[in-house]
Amino acid sequence: MKAFEATTRYFGVAADQLEIDADIREALLMPNREMQVQVTIERDNGKLENFIGFRVQHDDYRGPMKGGLRYHPNVDLDEVRALASLMTWKTAVVNLPFGGAKGGIGVDPRTLSAREIERLTRAFVDQIHEIVGPDKDIPGPDMGTDHRVMAWFRNQWEKYHGFNPSVITGKPVEEYGAKGREEATGRGVGLLTHKLLKRLGTKPSEANVAIQGFGNVGAHAAKFLDESQFPIVAVSDITGTYYRPAGLNIRAILKHKLEHPQGLLEGFEDCEKLPADALLGLSDVQVLIPAAVGGVIHEENVDQIKAKVIVEGANAPVYPIADQILSDRGVIILPDILANAGGVTVSYFEWVQNRQHYRWTLDRVRQELEHTMSEAFENVWQTANQHGVSLRTAAYMIGIRRVQRAGELAGFA
Ligand code: NAD
Repeated sequence: MKAFEATTRYFGVAADQLEIDADIREALLMPNREMQVQVTIERDNGKLENFIGFRVQHDDYRGPMKGGLRYHPNVDLDEVRALASLMTWKTAVVNLPFGGAKGGIGVDPRTLSAREIERLTRAFVDQIHEIVGPDKDIPGPDMGTDHRVMAWFRNQWEKYHGFNPSVITGKPVEEYGAKGREEATGRGVGLLTHKLLKRLGTKPSEANVAIQGFGNVGAHAAKFLDESQFPIVAVSDITGTYYRPAGLNIRAILKHKLEHPQGLLEGFEDCEKLPADALLGLSDVQVLIPAAVGGVIHEENVDQIKAKVIVEGANAPVYPIADQILSDRGVIILPDILANAGGVTVSYFEWVQNRQHYRWTLDRVRQELEHTMSEAFENVWQTANQHGVSLRTAAYMIGIRRVQRAGELAGFA
């Protein structure tokens, strides 16, 4: 199943609950604009290389569109379209005044030098600068991009349009970025894991956690959960699974990540080393947090999953058929559009600060993040109970209802 078909399936289940007519569904689902561009750079060896870049602007009924920029070999139009649509429901479910968009380039950034990535980013901005802007569409970081890429993006865009740092979020903190943006997605995942387990009547010390992916999201979620007294028994990255039934020393793993090339966990000791995909099937895990890539839990491996709770740190980690099988087994899934919304929430705070030429303290960012995420969580929890639906369907129902209402007020046509 393709990524867009999967997100559309989840949309459909919620739209059925809301009894939305077919014409309105189509208006809500169809992206506003899809742009595909050629991005050509000169490599360091003097040869030209061509890449394909995308920006999909899904919906702007609720405000300017917001969504990350991904540099990854799997980036294609279908994936970007799916992620853009997820952003529409995500910004709506946490009630940010934004619509949804996403962009990316089909490239493995690990094969490029820093100078080549800078040239790639500037060439991409040359192609799309007219359709992005602080009141139109505001990109941010995603897989394979970071604060440096955001700084190059901003600099190139300002060459055309003049000073305006709110054109992009996830910038370096000293260059109009927000304190707490880097940790925000993982922190939000941690905060909501805590809230969900409290609702389920489980104490942190009784819930063994496994985290797939130890990049930005996975590492910050691990840090927060470790500080909140959750035993983290396994973490993984592309080099394998690092497993210790009595609980891993997360501070030591975070230190190892900082000190090793590309932040990889290879060589970490004081634990068992298993293959990367072994993490999903560990039998002593109550809470599983997929925080790596999309589509990792599917029809073929869903029977291995033993966890009772899944918190989706990554975007679209569970395919719809697996989602149904897990729900039938009573597994509680906190969906991506709520669980990993901490990043876009603090991106919104960054945009607000840039527009006001004002800086918030880290404490204020964390407080407002907790407030926004908690309110969204309570709303989703109550909607799920009221309607007897899953947390995913409840989150989509809230998001869709808000976007539909904005469309009706504006006049859809
Ligand atoms: P990242 O590139 O920093 O980290 C990805 C991690 O996953 C790395 O540790 C990598 O080694 C690991 N990994 C990749 N494939 C794996 C596999 N098959 N098994 C185990 N580990 C594997 O990316 P990130 O920014 O942490 O994003 C992770 C996910 O979260 C993505 O789906 C992204 O779209 C989503 N997300 C990120 C943010 C954000 O603010 N960074 C916000 C919302 C959603």
